[in-house]
Amino acid sequence: MVFRPHKVAVFVDGCYWHGCPLHGVRDHKVNEWYWPAKIQRNVERDRDTDHQLRAIGWEVIRVWEHEDPGLAAVRIESVVRSRKPKCPGDTSINSQIEESPEMGTEDDR
Ligand SMILES: [Zn+2]
Repeated sequence: MVFRPHKVAVFVDGCYWHGCPLHGVRDHKVNEWYWPAKIQRNVERDRDTDHQLRAIGWEVIRVWEHEDPGLAAVRIESVVRSRKPKCPGDTSINSQIEESPEMGTEDDR
């Protein structure tokens, strides 16, 4: 989900596959959370995606699967509202981003 004029990107992450801190895998031997390598890679890729988006001026919101959709919507709305496009002359930057090949979607490569 993307609010392009506000540069806000919203991701809804599955608890297990994205290493949610509440619903990950608990290792009882050491009493710590851990995630299998595949999930570690997902999480690293998520962070990388966040980093790339923020580097070009986007705000990234990640919603966990377990979060209340109503509360998540409020959170998203407040971020989008706080980022009302300030400068109407900003459109040239937006069109650059739309054409940028690095702006991939979350689709798997
Ligand atoms: Zn969760």
